[in-house]
Amino acid sequence: MKIIMLGAPGAGKGTHAKGIVEKYKIPTISTGDIFRQNIKDGTELGKKAKSYMDAGDLVPDELVCDLVVDRLEKDDCKNGYILDGFPRTIPQAEALTAALKEKGTAIDYAIDIEMTDEAIVERMAGRRVCAKCGATFHTVNIPPKQEGVCDNCGGELELRDDDKPETVKKRLSVYHEQTAPLIEYYKNQGILHEIDGSLGLEGTGAAISKVLDA
Ligand code: AMP
Repeated sequence: MKIIMLGAPGAGKGTHAKGIVEKYKIPTISTGDIFRQNIKDGTELGKKAKSYMDAGDLVPDELVCDLVVDRLEKDDCKNGYILDGFPRTIPQAEALTAALKEKGTAIDYAIDIEMTDEAIVERMAGRRVCAKCGATFHTVNIPPKQEGVCDNCGGELELRDDDKPETVKKRLSVYHEQTAPLIEYYKNQGILHEIDGSLGLEGTGAAISKVLDA
């Protein structure tokens, strides 16, 4: 099962991907997580990506496409995967379609989680990420057991630099301009499923399960 999670930043792609991982035992590949890990590790890729990310811009396609295509070759992707945060532009989607076609395969589902910009700005202000393991929480919707502390590893929870309101607004405008056209792209491929992202963790999760279980 090969799945793409679409939707604006903060719509819940990563959170719902986690639910799918648990149920279907396939890995999530999050390009945002890969970049953040590279920044933490001080790699060349991390250094190149950081300035774009801090500004709320997309990292250039040439730094992203090969990275993902190589990752999909790994053994753990044999039975499928969830792509969270990739593709984010039409050239990325075309590169992915072409790379998969070469192997005689294709994406099965593009799940678009729909949310209004207002709801996203509000949601992102409450998002907290563990500085140590990357687990995501929310001050209201998914609160940790102890305020400011990660349930999984005890690490400190922080507001991501790019979740600050000014950067969120920039990321949303980048989303509408460069990523939203993917909805039409995957609709034309006949694999788009539009899901209401405002139904709460369980409601939206159940709507996604219904699509994948059908
Ligand atoms: P995310 O955690 O998916 O919201 O990604 C955080 C940031 O990483 C984005 O705002 C971009 O700067 C960068 N990024 C992640 N995935 C991509 C991608 N597929 N193409 C370009 N930039 C990306």
